[in-house]
Amino acid sequence: MAKTQLMMLGPPGAGKGTQAKRLEDELDIPQVSTGDMLRDARRRETELGQEAAEYMDDGELVPDDVVIGIVEERLQQSDADEGFILDGFPRTRKQAESLADMGVELEAVIKLQVSEDEIVRRLSGRLNCPECGAAYHEEFDPPEREGRCACGSELTRREDDRPEAVRERLETYTDETKPLVTFYRDRGMLLEINGEGSPDDVAARIQDAIGVST
Ligand SMILES: [Zn+2]
Repeated sequence: MAKTQLMMLGPPGAGKGTQAKRLEDELDIPQVSTGDMLRDARRRETELGQEAAEYMDDGELVPDDVVIGIVEERLQQSDADEGFILDGFPRTRKQAESLADMGVELEAVIKLQVSEDEIVRRLSGRLNCPECGAAYHEEFDPPEREGRCACGSELTRREDDRPEAVRERLETYTDETKPLVTFYRDRGMLLEINGEGSPDDVAARIQDAIGVST
């Protein structure tokens, strides 16, 4: 069987994690996110993992060559024999070039398209309980009593989930990923998928686009 090598692209709130998880279950290939990979390399105490840990402990960004080495090690593990879904990597054009240099040919880069207003709606409605850790959403999953968790504590909103902060994060994300999007679009690998609507609808659009039936 041919490998299914995919990548998910989209800003915070686009539903990337949800859709990557669905593809993982449907195609039986692992979702490979940068955060998970770094944590895993660190836990296994590989040479690169230890190097990455030093940067993370100092609160610094892990440099490209370390991240790329960790990705290379991760993709060689046996659970990725049939393919994988990259999430959060590559993040820059240089990383995309390195991935191609490793001989990794992506079949498709799935870019979830969600309007700015919709992302603001999704993220700025999130509420968390500082006491028990429960999560709610003003609109999609409201607490029984307004502003109160089931445990009785007052719910809070993360500072960077405020609408102005979300718009700023989105702008930064779009600027940062523009060269990456161009890179994949130029190579005919970019699949732009409407990410609005229910998770089921979005999943169906993705399956249609990549030609997978389940
Ligand atoms: Zn609570």
